[in-house]
Amino acid sequence: MPYEGEFADKASHFDIVKNPEVAAFLNEQCDFIKPPSEAEGKAIAARFVVPPPLDESLLPRRVIATDGSLLETSWDEQLPSTRIGYVKVGSVLIDMQDFQGLRVRGGRMVDPFKVAALERNKDALTFPLPSANVRFMGKDNVRDGFRAAVDAHLASEKTWLVPGNPRTSLRSTLFVLASRRQGRYAGQPMGTGDPTKLRIHKCPDCGQGPVEVADIPEQQYCPHCGSEVYPTDCLRLWEEVSDYQSNEAVFRRFMLIVEHLLVAHYIRFAYELEGSLSSLSELAFFVDGPLAIHGTAAWLHGSLMAYLHAINTRLEERGYGRLLVIGLQKSGAVVDHVRLIDRFIPNNRLFAIDDDYRYTYIRAGKDPSGNTFGYETYYGQDFIYKTPSGRVFVFALPYPFASKHPEGVDFKTAKADISRYPELSRALTLIHHFESDLYENAVIPVALAHRYTAISLEPGGRVLNLLTNRALEQKV
Ligand SMILES: [Zn+2]
Repeated sequence: MPYEGEFADKASHFDIVKNPEVAAFLNEQCDFIKPPSEAEGKAIAARFVVPPPLDESLLPRRVIATDGSLLETSWDEQLPSTRIGYVKVGSVLIDMQDFQGLRVRGGRMVDPFKVAALERNKDALTFPLPSANVRFMGKDNVRDGFRAAVDAHLASEKTWLVPGNPRTSLRSTLFVLASRRQGRYAGQPMGTGDPTKLRIHKCPDCGQGPVEVADIPEQQYCPHCGSEVYPTDCLRLWEEVSDYQSNEAVFRRFMLIVEHLLVAHYIRFAYELEGSLSSLSELAFFVDGPLAIHGTAAWLHGSLMAYLHAINTRLEERGYGRLLVIGLQKSGAVVDHVRLIDRFIPNNRLFAIDDDYRYTYIRAGKDPSGNTFGYETYYGQDFIYKTPSGRVFVFALPYPFASKHPEGVDFKTAKADISRYPELSRALTLIHHFESDLYENAVIPVALAHRYTAISLEPGGRVLNLLTNRALEQKV
C-alpha cells in the first residue's frame, strides 16, 4: 500500500500528472475533450435557440416517474465472496390536476395508473438476484440461477397489470416489444410478428439457435439439447454473469432494462388493455437517464422506438396529442459538458445535440461503424435546456420515427431538427413546472422516485443485509 490516509487520491493524481512519461502520453499522443475556450464558448452559445413558448395549459394531467436502485452485498461478513443482489425499481404517479376520472367506451371509469397494485401504495418492485457463489433453485451455476430468477421476476404476479391474467406481466410486455424486433431475430419482417412468441438468439447451454419460445407460464426446453430455456434469455444478460466475481454491472443493466420496460408496460395497459387513448395523451413519463439501452439487450431500443412511434401514430390518427416520454439525465458525458458551457449560455435557450456537436465537444470517439451516434442503442434525441431562471436540464424525447431508416429522410440530420418534435413545448413546460429550488438541476418526480426506491447503505442497507441473511439461512 503506497499511500495512506485520505490524501492518497490527490497525492497519486499529482504524481501521475507530473510523471514525464505520462505528461508526454497525454499531451502528444492522446486526444480528449478539453474545456472550451472563450471563442468556442461563444460559438457554442450561438447554436442555442430560443425555445418554443411555455404554455401551462399543455401540462399533462398525470406524470409517472420510474427509477431504480441496486445493491449487491455479501450475505455474511465472514463470507464476503458469497453475494446477493437487490434491484428495486419504483414508480411514482403524480396527479397534476384534480382527477375527474377517465372514461372508456361504455362509460366505465378507468384509472390506468391504479396500474397494477404496482404503485397503489407507492411500493417498488423488488428483485432479489443470485450473485457470486449462490445457486438459485438448485441450478448448476450462478448463471443458470440468475436466468431462472430474472424470468420468474418478470413473469411474476407482482408485475401483472390485470389480476389473474399472466399475459399482462412485464415479461409479456417484453414479448410485445420483441414482436417489433427487426433483423435476424424478428418474428416477421418489419416487426409485425406474433406478440405471444419470441426468438432467443441461441440456447445458453448448447449454443444452437435461434430458439423460439412462447409466452406461457410453463417451463420451456431447448429443442436441440433439452435444457431449460427462458423467454428472458433474449435479453442476454446471462452472458455477463460471473460465478465468482461481483455481478453489479449485470444487475445495473437489468435495472435499466426494467425501468424502460415499465414505461412500455404502462403504455400497453392504457392502450391495449384498456383502450384508453385519451388517457395516454394526457400522461407524461419521466425516465432516469438517456432514452437508450446499452449492452447485450441493446436490440430493445429499436423495439421501443417502433412501439412508441406506433402508439403516437395511432394517437395522431384519432386526433389526440402525442405521448410524452422524457429521459432526464443527471450525470454522464452530456451533463459534464453542460457544466463547462453553462456560463456561455443565456437563460431560456434550447439545443438539440447533433452528431457533429457531440463528436466535437462531448465525446472523444466516434461510432466505429460510421453510423449516426447511438445507432445501436439510442431511441431518443438529447436536448440541452436552460430554463428562463437559469437551471440547465439535459433531457431526451423519443425519435419521431419508427426506425433509423425513415423513407425519404436523412435520419442523422432529421433527428436533431427541433421542428420534428411537436411535443417539445409540452416537455419544456413540464420541466419548467417541476423545476425546483429544493433539488438543484433535478426534477421533482425523479427526486420522488428516488425517495421511494433508494437503497441506502445506512441504515436501509443494513436492514436488507439482515433480510438476506434470514432468507439464506432458511434455505441452508
Ligand atoms: Zn440447447
